[in-house]
Amino acid sequence: MKLYRVDQVRRWRLCSGCGACASACPENNIWMQDVVQRGLRPFLKSQDCRYCGTCVSVCPGAALSHARDVNHHRPEWGPVLKLWEGYAVNPDIRFKGSSGGAATAIAHYCLKHEPIHGVLQTKADENNPIANTAVLSRTYEDLLAGTGSRYSPAAPCERLYWLKVTNGPCVFVGKPCDTAALAKYANVFAAVRPNMFASISIFCAGTPSTQGTLEILDRMGIEKQQLASFRYRGNGWPGSAVAEGILKEQYGQLTYSESWGNILSKHVPFRCRICPDSSGEFADISCGDPWYRPIEPDDPGRSLVIARTEKGLRLVEKAIAAGYLALEEADARIIGLSQKSLLNKRRQLWGRITTMRLSGVPVPDYKGFGLFASWLKLSWREKFKSIAGTGRRILARRWYLPDPQESNP
Ligand SMILES: Cc1cc2nc3c(=O)[nH]c(=O)nc-3n(C[C@H](O)[C@H](O)[C@H](O)COP(=O)(O)OP(=O)(O)OC[C@H]3O[C@@H](n4cnc5c(N)ncnc54)[C@H](O)[C@@H]3O)c2cc1C
Repeated sequence: MKLYRVDQVRRWRLCSGCGACASACPENNIWMQDVVQRGLRPFLKSQDCRYCGTCVSVCPGAALSHARDVNHHRPEWGPVLKLWEGYAVNPDIRFKGSSGGAATAIAHYCLKHEPIHGVLQTKADENNPIANTAVLSRTYEDLLAGTGSRYSPAAPCERLYWLKVTNGPCVFVGKPCDTAALAKYANVFAAVRPNMFASISIFCAGTPSTQGTLEILDRMGIEKQQLASFRYRGNGWPGSAVAEGILKEQYGQLTYSESWGNILSKHVPFRCRICPDSSGEFADISCGDPWYRPIEPDDPGRSLVIARTEKGLRLVEKAIAAGYLALEEADARIIGLSQKSLLNKRRQLWGRITTMRLSGVPVPDYKGFGLFASWLKLSWREKFKSIAGTGRRILARRWYLPDPQESNP
């Protein structure tokens, strides 16, 4: 089924929630609203739409493709020019960072030494600590305030139009779908290209809906209205989910495995579960957790850093030389050892998508990911499961119909 407008993408569960469509709509007719059980989703302000298709042309939920001539392609992980493991040299960034603070350290290096205007990134919303907002960070203090992973809906691409008007090039930090959307947006809007300095992606297994965070608060016994701040991890590696209320006694803490493993991961929406790009293949640089190594108590944090493009490679090398990053080159096999569930998801994808397509369920158009070759690496049992399990879910969860939760508010 051809999708002509993002509300169709949303209703067929294919929206990744990045917000690029809201930036792209020439009529300014799209706004992002949080559907609590799903995520940030695009809605039309008025039905008066020309069906120009610009919203779908920038949408990473509807289609993603690698250029045919992409170099250094590693099966399942996309372009990998060089891989390192290490951390931010600045101890505050390393401590506050989600893994080893590498994403922030690279952005910090760029802010200090490259001709950039700012860093477009995500941070907690000051008026609602469990929500997120896109910001243009221009100082070290701004960057530090945006450090750490936010496991709740965030749509930094809602503000991509800023890149048309900023007084100079910017660094963009986001999830894989966000950085893929940035690349698609720049293809459509030539005006942003001079202001796109570099993109940094964090690894992502899927964005849990707000319902996930509400369940954490419920477990902690804290009301959303009582919250002064909320963080998901960081302040050590991997760090804990910590809620601080307006009053001192309103305090809750859950370990990373309790918060992500037991709660948040169960609230990852459908589109994220069929995402081929969990490691930021369309960014210049991507950063993830080296989960392959056991974490020592009080470990201040470590990151995997992948240079995807020549520009990314140069920037990381300059950030190391300037003393912002302490990194050692690593064997690319540690990506798979660190991200076993992401690898397994990628290998299942061809079976899942093909079953859906044959059942008449709209699916994203993926090109250049080598999904069939990855699927062939599964055991016969796993291959069968990827097809039969999907077929069962299509019937049980009625994926052959649009999602009632995603209908108009
Ligand atoms: C939803 C989600 C799923 C994740 N899944 C995985 C996974 O499967 N495997 C894995 O290794 N790591 C995962 N992470 C964690 C993250 O990829 C790593 O911690 C990564 O190494 C970044 O760490 P860092 O210390 O370099 O980042 P930091 O220096 O702490 O910087 C983090 C940067 O990410 C931005 N950011 C934070 N949250 C969001 C968001 N929701 N949307 C857009 N931008 C954001 C911040 O603005 C900041 O610039 C996930 C994170 C999120 C938010």
